[in-house]
Amino acid sequence: MTLPAIEIPVYEVKLPTLNKTVKYKPYTVKEEKTLLMAIESNDEKQIFETSLRCCDSCILDDSVKIEELSVLDLELLMISIRSKSVGETVDVRVTCEECNHTLDIKADITKMKVKKKGKPKDTIMLDETYGVKLKLPSIDSVYDSLVNKTDELTSTLLACIDFVYDEETTYSFKDYTEEEKTDFIEKMTVENVKKINELFIDKLPSNCIDLPFTCPSCGKENKKTMENLLDFFI
Ligand SMILES: [Zn+2]
Repeated sequence: MTLPAIEIPVYEVKLPTLNKTVKYKPYTVKEEKTLLMAIESNDEKQIFETSLRCCDSCILDDSVKIEELSVLDLELLMISIRSKSVGETVDVRVTCEECNHTLDIKADITKMKVKKKGKPKDTIMLDETYGVKLKLPSIDSVYDSLVNKTDELTSTLLACIDFVYDEETTYSFKDYTEEEKTDFIEKMTVENVKKINELFIDKLPSNCIDLPFTCPSCGKENKKTMENLLDFFI
């Protein structure tokens, strides 16, 4: 007689950028093993790839293409899967802003919320002729920047530019090589980049978890907020 198969629970999460409710299952012991092996490799690219693959196998909806999700949606999905797989809290090391005392606290990852920072302006003129149309960065582009080891500013810009345009033509960014795109970005003026940062990138919504804590050493009430939640998948 074969052993019975354990029924795996199914959960739902609504992804805001995609505007769709997606069903998912927690990851299994086998998948967790693969994740732990990836962590041991200490290779950022491998960890990210394995996390993506694991996340993909947990989604029970074939129409959702994980590499096309926005970072915002992927974070929410990963945090949701993680909370149902290994637990709803993660240990986070925090430092008191008053006395620099360091301690570990438990963050409740189910308390994640979207922080909106105003309305991003997605078309920006670079000079009198050329403008750029910007988009929410997708996972693909985060992955590219890990693989190509570009600096953070360049990789953010690479991830956000959808197309360049003038009065007659649009130049779709995805049709160009990494080198051509980087070259284009490096030739932008400091003023251009500042404008894109202020009007678009700084205003992109992000996921965050509030972590208020009272310092046991000096009593100071700290207000800390965690962003970049992709690290908390495992
Ligand atoms: Zn303190």
